[in-house]
Amino acid sequence: MYRSFLIKYAEIGVKGKNRYLFEDRLCDQIRYALTRCEGAFEVTKSQGRIFVNALSEFDYEETVENLRTVFGVTGICPVVHVEDEGFEKLCQDVAGYIDRVYPDKNFSFKVEARRARKNYPKNSMEINCDIGEALLNAFPGLRVDVHKPDVMLRIEVREKIYIYSTVIPGPGGLPVGTNGKGMLLLSGGIDSPVAGYMIAKRGVKLDAVYFSAPPYTSGRATQKVLDLAKTISRYSGPIDLHIINFTDIQLYIYDQCPHDELTIIMRRYMMRIAEEIAKKSGCLGLITGESIGQVASQTMQSLMATNDVCTMPVYRPLIGFDKQEIVEISEKIDTYETSIQPYEDCCTIFVAKHPVTKPNLNVIRIHERNLDEKIDELMRTALETDEVVEIAYEH
Ligand code: ATP
Ligand code: MG
Repeated sequence: MYRSFLIKYAEIGVKGKNRYLFEDRLCDQIRYALTRCEGAFEVTKSQGRIFVNALSEFDYEETVENLRTVFGVTGICPVVHVEDEGFEKLCQDVAGYIDRVYPDKNFSFKVEARRARKNYPKNSMEINCDIGEALLNAFPGLRVDVHKPDVMLRIEVREKIYIYSTVIPGPGGLPVGTNGKGMLLLSGGIDSPVAGYMIAKRGVKLDAVYFSAPPYTSGRATQKVLDLAKTISRYSGPIDLHIINFTDIQLYIYDQCPHDELTIIMRRYMMRIAEEIAKKSGCLGLITGESIGQVASQTMQSLMATNDVCTMPVYRPLIGFDKQEIVEISEKIDTYETSIQPYEDCCTIFVAKHPVTKPNLNVIRIHERNLDEKIDELMRTALETDEVVEIAYEH
């Protein structure tokens, strides 16, 4: 019965003059999500409202599911529009709507009308009362409750008249593309995909970098990261994923540095390389899945040692989260099942039995000098052999 959705959005409503930019981006992102759906649609913007209109047959469930991936959307309202053919007819149309949407006509309701077209002969209050009365007459099981109605029936009078009563929650946040681009350090674990999702939710477009260590890590591990990137791109839009061969750097660190400091030194080189790529591709910050105290390399001291090599801001959206909270989000965004596949990422192979938990930054810097001879060259090679895969979510 529905041919249209009214799209609700909140935060972007308050951005003053930039508002139209945000709305246009939101429309773009909605159109992008709809390319994954069966059917043809138009997305229109008018008077602070965005509508998705179906131009052909479409799959309701699939369409709603895809609209729910668009950041910036707070609600998706399936809406019926009717022509303005007098108030009598409107009352009939509204009763017809109730009849079809609510088979069990035993509930409380409230009518909330909005008159966007001011030449309509009744004002909002009159529409509320008169439609309410018509419904009470038509369905004896209904009752009015203005405080806590079971059904909030909304009527919007524009050129046409819109009737809706269902609000399906959207993800909230800001439309991707309204806040620059960030470089996500994406491993195969549970945390970094969630971190990418959370930053994308703030309107940030994503690129990603994965450090692989063949033959210590397998093609399956890389495939896992490709799969994760694809799932994230469902929300974030297309991602350029950089795959960096990190093996030689890792082996060199392993040969030259104390083993209990391996992870920290490795992380420092990952950050350095990620920052190089980030600068080249126009990113404004790095994104990681770190959370204070989760592992030895994420104590405050370790984070300080890792952060020391970065000049760009490093965004760590999970910093105050417990593992369980992160797992819940990863389940919600559908990355969990992929993340728990057992393929090793490069860190797990080179971890020491007893990594330092309170690295001393000066000591780390001194030990890193053991790498002076070859590290620049190894970094250059790693960057030169950067393999870029364009990731986009299709179905
Ligand atoms: P995750 O679950 O994201 O793998 P983790 O709990 O395993 O995180 P670490 O291995 O200490 O934690 O990694 C911390 C962060 O460093 C990760 O969240 C990720 O952003 C980045 N990172 C770690 N390994 C890699 C890798 N091989 N490629 C890209 N980024 C990585
Ligand atoms: Mg990991």
